[in-house]
Amino acid sequence: MPLTGIEIFKLLAKTNCKECGFPTCLAFAMSLATGKVELSACPYVSEEAKVKLQEASAPPIRPVTIGVSDRALKIGGETVMFRHEKRFENPPGFAILISDTMEESEINARLERFGQLQYERVGLTLRPELVAVKCDSGDTGKFETLVSKVKQTNNCSIILMSNNPDTLAAGLKICADQKPLIYAVTKDNLDRVADLAKVNSCPVAVKASNVEELVQLTTKLTEAGVKDIVLDSGSRTIRQAFEDQIIIRSSALTKKFRPLGFPTIVFPCEMTSDPLKEAVIASMFVAKYGSIIVLSDFQGESLFPLLVARMNIYTDPQRPLATTEGIYEIGSPDENSPVLITTNFSLTYFIVSGEVENSKVPSWLLVKDTEGLSVMTAWAAGKFVADAIAPFVKKCGIADKVKHRELIIPGHAAAESGGLEEELSGWKIRVGPRDGAHIPAYLKAWRS
Ligand code: SF4
Repeated sequence: MPLTGIEIFKLLAKTNCKECGFPTCLAFAMSLATGKVELSACPYVSEEAKVKLQEASAPPIRPVTIGVSDRALKIGGETVMFRHEKRFENPPGFAILISDTMEESEINARLERFGQLQYERVGLTLRPELVAVKCDSGDTGKFETLVSKVKQTNNCSIILMSNNPDTLAAGLKICADQKPLIYAVTKDNLDRVADLAKVNSCPVAVKASNVEELVQLTTKLTEAGVKDIVLDSGSRTIRQAFEDQIIIRSSALTKKFRPLGFPTIVFPCEMTSDPLKEAVIASMFVAKYGSIIVLSDFQGESLFPLLVARMNIYTDPQRPLATTEGIYEIGSPDENSPVLITTNFSLTYFIVSGEVENSKVPSWLLVKDTEGLSVMTAWAAGKFVADAIAPFVKKCGIADKVKHRELIIPGHAAAESGGLEEELSGWKIRVGPRDGAHIPAYLKAWRS
C-alpha cells in the first residue's frame, strides 16, 4: 500500500530547509504522496528512508520503454488526470499496422510512408514511432519474414502481435534485441507469454475482455515477476474504450490501484473502417489517455494533425517552448545585412525566421531570452523593454558583424524605440511590422 503524507513526513529530515521548493517538509510529503513531486527533489533523504519511500515515490503509472537507442519509446509515468494540474509526461506513440496477409507491395508502401511521414515544427521533429507487425495468416514462417523485413528496413520500435505464443517466440528470436512490445498476454496463454517476456526482458501487453479481467491478469503477471506491462481492456467500441481509459487512469492515480497502474494500448484501427473517423478516434485517445495508438495506416492528412495535437497536449504548460538566445544567420548575411530582434518563444522565432527566409534577404536575427514569452507578453512583463534589450544587443557581438547600426524591432515593441536609441548610443532603431507576414515586404524595402 502507498504511504500517506504523514507516514512519508516521518521519514524526512524535518529541517524545513526549503531546498525542494516547498516551504516545509510536510508540504513536500503531501505532494509526494499524491505523486506530484519526485523523491529526488529532497537531497536529505537517508538510504534507509529511500527504500521505505520507494513505493510512495514510484509514479502511480509505471513508465515502460519499448525499443532501444534514440528511437525507444517511453510511455506511462503519468501523475495527473488533467494537464493543467502539472503536465503530461510521456507522449503516446503512434503505430502503423502491418499484417503478414498483406501484399508485398502494400507492406512496402506502408513501410515507406512510415519512414517518410515526419515533419519539422518549432524546432522539433514530429514522427510516428512504432510498427505493429501482426500475424493474421497463422503461418509462423510468414510472420518471421515480415518481422525480419520490418527490423531491417525501419528504424522503429516494434509491436509483435499474435495469439500464438510459438509465433511470438519466433518473432522474438529475430528482434528481441530491439526490445519489442509483445502483444498479448491473455487468460489462455498467460504463463507461456509471461515466460517469453521474462526470458527476453521485453515489455508485454495484456489483453482482457474487460477492466475486471485486466486486474486479474496484471496481478498474476506481477506476481510472476513481469513488471513492464501495457494494458488493453479489449473494448472496441468508442464509448466503452473511452470509459475504460478514464477508469484505468483514475484508478491508478486517485486510488493508487497498482494492478491498473500501467500505460495502455488502444486500437482505433479496429473501431471503424472510415480513415477520417479513425483519426478522430485517435485524437480522442491522444487526450484521454492512450499510451500507444494503433492506426490501420498512415496518411499525411490525418497523421500530421495527430502529431501536432500530441505535441500541443504534451507540452509542459508551465514551460513555454523556447529557443536559445543568440545571433541567428538567415541566408548567409554579411556586414550590410539587416539586423532584426525578437523574443525566444519558439513559435515566435520560427514564424519570424520563416518570414525572413521567405524574403530572400540575408539577415541577422537576434533572439533575446524572454523566458519563452512572445513579443507582446514579454513586453508587458518587462522582459522585452529597452533596459533588457540594450544590454543584450551590446554583449551579443552583432556590432562586430555589421558595419551599419540599424536595429529592426517588432512592431509590437514600438514603444521601446525611443528608450533603445538612448540606451544604444549610435544605433538607429527602426520599427518593423507587427505581423510576421509583412516581414518579407518590409525587408525588401529596407534593402532598397
Ligand atoms: Fe524538508 Fe527535504 Fe524539502 Fe528540506 S528539501 S524542506 S529536508 S523535504
